[in-house]
Amino acid sequence: MTTTATNVLQNYINGKWVDAKTEQFQSVPNPATGEELAQVPISTREDLDEAVKVAKATFKTWSKTPVPKRARILFKYQQLLVDNWDELAKLLTQENGKSFKEAQGEVQRGIECVEFAAGAPSLMMGKQLPDIATNLESGMYRYPVGVVGGITPFNFPMMVPCWMFPLAIAMGNTFVLKPSERTPLLANRLAELFKEAGLPDGVLNIVHGAHDVVNGLLEHKDVPAISFVGSQPVAEYVYKTGAANGKRVQALAGAKNHSIVMADADLDAAVKEIIAASYGSAGERCMACSVVVAVDDVVEPLLQKLNEKADEIKIGNGLDEDVFLGPVIRKEHKERTENYIRKGQEEGATLVRDGRNDEAYNEEGYFIGPTIFDHVNSSMQIWKDEIFAPVLSIVRVKNLEEAIELTNESDFGNGACLFTQSGSNVRYFRENIEVGMLGVNIGVPAPMAFFPFSGWKNSFYGDLHANGSDGVEFYTRRKMLTARW
Ligand code: NAD
Repeated sequence: MTTTATNVLQNYINGKWVDAKTEQFQSVPNPATGEELAQVPISTREDLDEAVKVAKATFKTWSKTPVPKRARILFKYQQLLVDNWDELAKLLTQENGKSFKEAQGEVQRGIECVEFAAGAPSLMMGKQLPDIATNLESGMYRYPVGVVGGITPFNFPMMVPCWMFPLAIAMGNTFVLKPSERTPLLANRLAELFKEAGLPDGVLNIVHGAHDVVNGLLEHKDVPAISFVGSQPVAEYVYKTGAANGKRVQALAGAKNHSIVMADADLDAAVKEIIAASYGSAGERCMACSVVVAVDDVVEPLLQKLNEKADEIKIGNGLDEDVFLGPVIRKEHKERTENYIRKGQEEGATLVRDGRNDEAYNEEGYFIGPTIFDHVNSSMQIWKDEIFAPVLSIVRVKNLEEAIELTNESDFGNGACLFTQSGSNVRYFRENIEVGMLGVNIGVPAPMAFFPFSGWKNSFYGDLHANGSDGVEFYTRRKMLTARW
């Protein structure tokens, strides 16, 4: 399949598995056990240049392949992903650590992107106006952009690449994907299945690696568009470097998502949502709830219920039954999280629940239990930074106005949720919050594939977001025709 006998991953170029021209490899451990799953090559510019060369040559034919014919391959691909759902989910849990159930959910999110992309014939339609003046007509036609570079993070090895390559390819582009070097396995399987669905060689290419491959994409004269998802500093760097090299760039970045809980909320329902949003995927989600803003006297019953539910969470290997909280991605990330817990204590926050006391903390994998800080405020680093781990901060405020002011102070603007039964609270929240993806009485307001993933502020660099109508715009360019006959 996608690896050699020694389990060294290969790049995928022109429909073939090829060795990277590198001496440098990184170990890919299963974060739940520490066992090595594979070695990933840290490919060179030479490897990347080869992939771009192939993608550029293939663009000539793929961009001219009739759109319904392209769409039919996407339909077939969708069916193959459905047929291999559990196998994909298992691989995902092994390399990322999230629970099998969540991995199955992530596969579903990826499949939905393919379903959206299969609508290419409708999505690519242009517009005409027959009479812009007497005997003068005008029309807009949509075309692919060329070779698109995709750079993806470790936390959604299926969903995030699927935000990019299915739609870009359905629109007639060719693609070079650089998956996260921390979760590189699933991408290879996705490519294999796409080939099985009938995708011609050279349309989708994968180059494994790190900075060199990213910089190669950002500087390559034959790559006009870059889709990036990852942490804020890298997103900013990718956006600026890509733009300086004349490319269109969409760079989705980090987050610090607040959930505001009002006194009139259904508390049991709110707690269920918040627990899932804070500790699901070990808090390693760009839409994770990392701050609860407790309004007025809701805080004591809320804290009690959060604590009770956090105690019930089963921690362990995501492939084991009933496990909800898996490991964080690497030992270094566990240490970084521990530093934040110490930092929170030094800053004066109250450590209500300490994930270092959970049994799994001392096991082989990179486990850390659900952690809760109370009495957090906006001057603290644990409030400002994206910790990206199962650490939840509680901030106490007097009213909704104060809750929204606090949320708006954050540098990030990805998601925010409100738990309430009041329509006027919802309206006030919607009108005043400076965040791009809002939830009411739900914990993870991630839009479906047919809507744009709409982060604001430092959670996004660019103007056209991933997915939905923005995705179609990003992966196409227009021609305007004005004609007199
Ligand atoms: P990351 O920034 O470390 O890595 C993302 C990609 O960039 C990887 O492919 C990596 O190889 C590459 N990269 C890393 N450092 C680089 C550098 N200095 N120069 C060039 N390339 C570099 O992100 P991660 O830790 O893999 O992913 C988690 C982050 O992604 C979190 O911040 C999370 O919020 C964010 N994220 C955001 C969204 C969103 O929609 N806004 C979705 C998923 C994840």
